[in-house]
Amino acid sequence: MNEPQLRSQMLRISHLIYERGLLVAMDGNLSALLPSGQVLCTRAGCHKGFLTDEDLIVVDRSGRMLRGTGRPTSELKMHLACYDERPDIRAVVHAHPPISVAFTIANVSMARCVLPEVVLTLGTIPTVDYETTGTLALADKIRPFVRDHDAILMDRHGAVCLGGSLLQAFCNLETMEHTAKITKAALALGGVKELPPDEAVKLRSLGLKRYGGPPSAIEKADQPGADLPLACQPCREAAPAPTPTGTPKAPLRMARVVDTPPRLIAGAVDGEVEDAVMKAVLEALGR
Ligand SMILES: [Zn+2]
Repeated sequence: MNEPQLRSQMLRISHLIYERGLLVAMDGNLSALLPSGQVLCTRAGCHKGFLTDEDLIVVDRSGRMLRGTGRPTSELKMHLACYDERPDIRAVVHAHPPISVAFTIANVSMARCVLPEVVLTLGTIPTVDYETTGTLALADKIRPFVRDHDAILMDRHGAVCLGGSLLQAFCNLETMEHTAKITKAALALGGVKELPPDEAVKLRSLGLKRYGGPPSAIEKADQPGADLPLACQPCREAAPAPTPTGTPKAPLRMARVVDTPPRLIAGAVDGEVEDAVMKAVLEALGR
């Protein structure tokens, strides 16, 4: 895509991200690599629902302003870290999808193999430990995660989604939030039934070959367990045994889970489900 095409796609996707409720107010930022290798991105302090061409700036790979008006966002460091770590990607979308972020606050992992389509296309969604927003420390903290994943969550903050195009990065963001919504609804109905480990590994291996993914993950497509965390794999010597509830116990932050499935909340129907599920999750965590 040339620059005019990328600029118009960035506006369209930015508006969609706002309209889909994946961020509010001045939250979030988008970036894409221009054919020159420079970075087209949204400036600091602009509303993504009303984004115009004047809100787009061009910076170099060290974040220095090259064209446009306004200033780069403090979160640009995060985008640049993604491009450094993943020469295969062309776009990064950062948003604050509410249900996904709620999972991090409630300390419920999204690194679980639940939906076949998600295992095929994204694998698992890890959570990066809390770090102050807009800092170099946060950008450094996400590096090892973006090396191996196309969609990651940052504790109490939001999502970073990568792609070979802006559309792909946006799809990964939508998939993450859709997964969070379905998982939350399942928790409200009584619990989450994970895919059998053998099936999860089969799907992931197939997905990496069919749809691609991070180069480090593709390399593992034919290895036992593909790129899934040990907790999602069939029991092997080093893998922790599943608990009687089927919920794996894993030392990995990226695979942390609650051991006690939330109880079915009596009378939690329609609008009440929203509040009830959070209550159930917090109770399960003993808070
Ligand atoms: Zn943010």
